[in-house]
Amino acid sequence: MIQSSTPRFVGTLLLVLVWATSLAAQPDAAVTGQPDARATDTQPADDLWQFDDDEDVETWGTLLRDQALDLTLFVAFAALALVSFFRKSVRLKYVTLVAAVVYLGFTKSMLISVVDVNRLVPPTWNLPVFRYSLVWYLFAGFTVVSTVLWGRLYCGRVCAFGALTQLMDSVVPARWRVELPVWLEQRAALVKYGLLAATLLYFVVTADIAVYRYVEPFWMFTRQATTGLWIGLAVLLVATVFVRNLYCRFLCPVGAALGLLSKLTVFRIKRWSECNTCKICEKKCEWGAIRGPEIVMTECVRCDDCERLYLDTAKCPHWIILRRSPATSRPPSPSAG
Ligand code: SF4
Ligand code: SF4
Ligand code: SF4
Repeated sequence: MIQSSTPRFVGTLLLVLVWATSLAAQPDAAVTGQPDARATDTQPADDLWQFDDDEDVETWGTLLRDQALDLTLFVAFAALALVSFFRKSVRLKYVTLVAAVVYLGFTKSMLISVVDVNRLVPPTWNLPVFRYSLVWYLFAGFTVVSTVLWGRLYCGRVCAFGALTQLMDSVVPARWRVELPVWLEQRAALVKYGLLAATLLYFVVTADIAVYRYVEPFWMFTRQATTGLWIGLAVLLVATVFVRNLYCRFLCPVGAALGLLSKLTVFRIKRWSECNTCKICEKKCEWGAIRGPEIVMTECVRCDDCERLYLDTAKCPHWIILRRSPATSRPPSPSAG
């Protein structure tokens, strides 16, 4: 449960965000190895993939020195994300979300894009040059490894767009929310898988990656786009005010790809036997990821909400029953969700 002081806390963080964003340098998409969203839509796809392949007298020392600041800052961010995740701290999570928006978003424009997913699809295999893109490999490696270990941690606190919509969500009054019927929510969640398949197929057939700007709004962090794209983004953000996490839950191809990868998750959320009948966490989950006793890993973003309830001795029926039970009839141990 987010504490009542959270909106004020988030408001303060948002003020910091706006201030920091105004100071931020122009986005540096090249550091990620991603195609620069500032390029025009008509720019040939090959140009978007180019990297400086100059073979001058470069040593690993000079390469590391050139990229040391970006590497250090990303390692610091990843450490913050992991500490907030393991400590299940609401405040640290919001600090992480603000850092994701300000640093990864507006400062570096460093997000995993469907274009990056396409890099792994044959015959593309168009990966950035390793020695010039150390931060991109660290970022992508962190995303893949954390997803396999814990699930969509990237979506829960690293992705700048997801962080932005979660921050919006924390300040929007609850009465403005439109709760979708479960049957519609579950069907709508499938749309993103269709979009992922369609986008990858389009890339493979046409080799035109510029279309990515029309299926994901991450270009917004570059603050460079056509009027039509800005209007589309405004519509999406207004809709997100009423339907929380709209893009992430129903439309994002990257979320779909990470959802598929998270089927491999090693360390899953634990459940008590009482979770078979208790609905408290299911109602609390804002991502539609709890269906009865089951946690649907493809939809879960490891936001911690249910895990905090799991540990809450005052609210979770498991602990309440445990307190009332004689020592000889203790409830069974937890199981993975
Ligand atoms: S679903 Fe997409 S937009 Fe949302 S947090 Fe994940 S990658 Fe980012
Ligand atoms: S409140 Fe406790 S018993 Fe109920 S669903 Fe959550 S973890 Fe399970
Ligand atoms: S509430 Fe639990 S199941 Fe739902 S997204 Fe958060 S961590 Fe995942």
